[in-house]
Amino acid sequence: MASKTMHIGLDDTDSTRKGCTTYVAAVLVEKLEKLGASFIDYPSLIRLNPNVPWKTRGNGALCLRIRYDESIEGQIKETVLETVEEQADFQFRGTDPGIVFFKGEKIPRQIKAFAKNVITGIVTLKDAVKLLTEFSGEAVGFKNGRGIIGALAAVGETLRGDYTFEILAYRVLENRGLKRHVDEASIFEMDKTTAPYTFNNVDAEKNRIVITPRGPDPILLGIRGETPETVKKAFAIVKPLEPVERWVIFRTNQGTDAHLKKVEKLSQIRPYSPVIVRGTVAANPRMIPKRHIIFPIRDESAEVDCAAYEPTGTLRKVASKLMIGDHIKAYGGVRAPSQKRHLTINLEKIRVLKLAPKTAFHNPVCQKCGSRLKSMGKSKGFRCEKCGSRYQGLGKVEVRLKRDLKRGLYITSTRSQRHLTKPFRRYGMEKRHVAVERPIDGWHS
Ligand SMILES: [Zn+2]
Repeated sequence: MASKTMHIGLDDTDSTRKGCTTYVAAVLVEKLEKLGASFIDYPSLIRLNPNVPWKTRGNGALCLRIRYDESIEGQIKETVLETVEEQADFQFRGTDPGIVFFKGEKIPRQIKAFAKNVITGIVTLKDAVKLLTEFSGEAVGFKNGRGIIGALAAVGETLRGDYTFEILAYRVLENRGLKRHVDEASIFEMDKTTAPYTFNNVDAEKNRIVITPRGPDPILLGIRGETPETVKKAFAIVKPLEPVERWVIFRTNQGTDAHLKKVEKLSQIRPYSPVIVRGTVAANPRMIPKRHIIFPIRDESAEVDCAAYEPTGTLRKVASKLMIGDHIKAYGGVRAPSQKRHLTINLEKIRVLKLAPKTAFHNPVCQKCGSRLKSMGKSKGFRCEKCGSRYQGLGKVEVRLKRDLKRGLYITSTRSQRHLTKPFRRYGMEKRHVAVERPIDGWHS
């Protein structure tokens, strides 16, 4: 008997009409345990760059890390292939599933670096295949095989930096596609009880729950939090009003800002690579159709546009209050320039660093009676309407006005946050250290 370690990466088995790669992983957890494999970590749910143009949904890839006896290796691979074939929506254009089997305990540094690039930028299938060949990983790609990129990235993202957990509960087959039934009051209760150790349960602005997705996928609900114990406890407080087929706790990079990469200069911004960058507001914000707010920022190297879209709520309000000269840090995805538009940062967050003084020019006051003078026309002096005094050679006075905006961090409203966006609740809770987290007892059912 020889015990071995394998990392199994999965990506892109779902489509907008059916399925969910996390569900494939959840089914595999049960099947692989039945075969005799044991999990050395929680299954990981790795959200990849949300700004890749050909990906429209959550863009999440999965990795299962297991130990097993060498004798069942063939059965394990067969089970994975079978399950993907069973669950994936092969007919859907744009769904190109990929599987990666990577053996050995250690993940090579180059594959870890590759994963970071897939999360923060754009990577080609060729890059993935080159690494797989170099380190003798096995890959199975269906259709155009693009899913291999995400599958390898999920293997390589070992979550050594910040990470969170999500418990996902799935619906029974006959309910999929129908309205979800969960007791809403219990979700608000759960949020109150477990705060601040869970996040993105409800949208406080709209008083609406956000843990249940819409659409035909098999997920009933997902609760995100800091520890496996917390999300499990939170799930116990929520009352589903329909049967739950299974639930699994995932370890994930959600809510960590992992996609955002700092760039020093505006000229270094590239399309599709989410950024954090500083700049000075170069013109007052303007509203474009559909109530989106646009404004340019600049530094010594370049000028780019920033956009806050209507559904971003709070952020859009803040953006509309900015003015020329304000110094900010912008966080968000980058849209390629088009004929109509410059390179644009789609804002997820703004940090207002410095507010420009807002001033206005008022007429001076009468030196005799103190009331505000009236101008008699350009360079004709001022006159007091109350006491009749006249003044020549007086100028307007500059007055400093109060800004209706404070310095600080502003984040898009919960309902429009990306999976990767770090919400307010998580600031100060970032983790740094663990390479693998051994699963607690009862991490799936
Ligand atoms: Zn007067």
